[in-house]
Amino acid sequence: MTQQSKGTALITGASSGIGAIYAERLARRGYDLVLVARNRERLNALASRITTETQQNVEVFPADLSKADDLVKVERKLREDVSIRLLVNNAGIGTHTSLLESNVERMAEMISLNITALTRLTYAAVPGFVARQQGAVFNISSIAGLAPELLNGVYGGSKAFVTAFSQSLHKELADSGIKVQAVLPGATATDFWQIGGLPVENLDPGIVMSAHDLVEGALQDFDNDVLLSIPSLHDLQAFYHYESSRQALFSQLSSNQLAPRYNAK
Ligand code: NAP
Repeated sequence: MTQQSKGTALITGASSGIGAIYAERLARRGYDLVLVARNRERLNALASRITTETQQNVEVFPADLSKADDLVKVERKLREDVSIRLLVNNAGIGTHTSLLESNVERMAEMISLNITALTRLTYAAVPGFVARQQGAVFNISSIAGLAPELLNGVYGGSKAFVTAFSQSLHKELADSGIKVQAVLPGATATDFWQIGGLPVENLDPGIVMSAHDLVEGALQDFDNDVLLSIPSLHDLQAFYHYESSRQALFSQLSSNQLAPRYNAK
């Protein structure tokens, strides 16, 4: 840890897009970094630029998080490196294709990365954070979790998981001093779209945000303890209304009586 360090942030999917911007921004905030992704060359290039610009320590940790052997190594790092105070679960893939157009092996890979890896890494990090009474988890979800009809259903479902898991974790950790944030980007200008088979140039530019603005908004929300950050949403009242309606349902969802709209037999 450098003397002025706030501790270390481990960022998955740091080799490009949103993760690379998190890396730069968190280093400028005084975090040392562990950068995780598959592409070692891109990680090395980013690490040397950030070290030069910020003097923070940056460790490159190449790993394929959809592979069990590599995932276990990152889990071990999170358990054993007590300097880690921030986990950014950002690595993810997506697509816009329908079930009939999609390859199930690719869907299973998406579930491994977007859900299984994120869950295992969170389980590896949080016990240490709680023991040290310090730490935070950022889970990069998507507006597709709220609107699964918009893109591929496995992608939307995986991001609904990320948001729901984060909401539950936030409640579980409320008294522990550990902060949790789910970030729900709308369309963001990164390689994500090209890799998913629909280059971002095909989208209406009016709905596409820069990764820089997205991360800026999410970090400002984090500073203000906002659990669900949606930097592209202008009408925040509409979201409060949605959330309070959802929460108002909690006490009504279970009953020993069949609802009156059914004919009891
Ligand atoms: P991106 O530029 O494609 O970045 C994805 C990152 O994940 C890359 O660093 C990639 O690096 C890494 N990655 C992919 N597969 C991996 C694997 N198996 N193991 C380890 N790392 C892997 O896309 P992005 O937009 O920044 O995506 C970041 C997150 O934002 C994702 O969770 C995505 O679902 C979410 N999101 C994006 C948008 C959008 O419109 N762009 C909208 C909502 C949510 P390597 O190839 O080097 O492994």
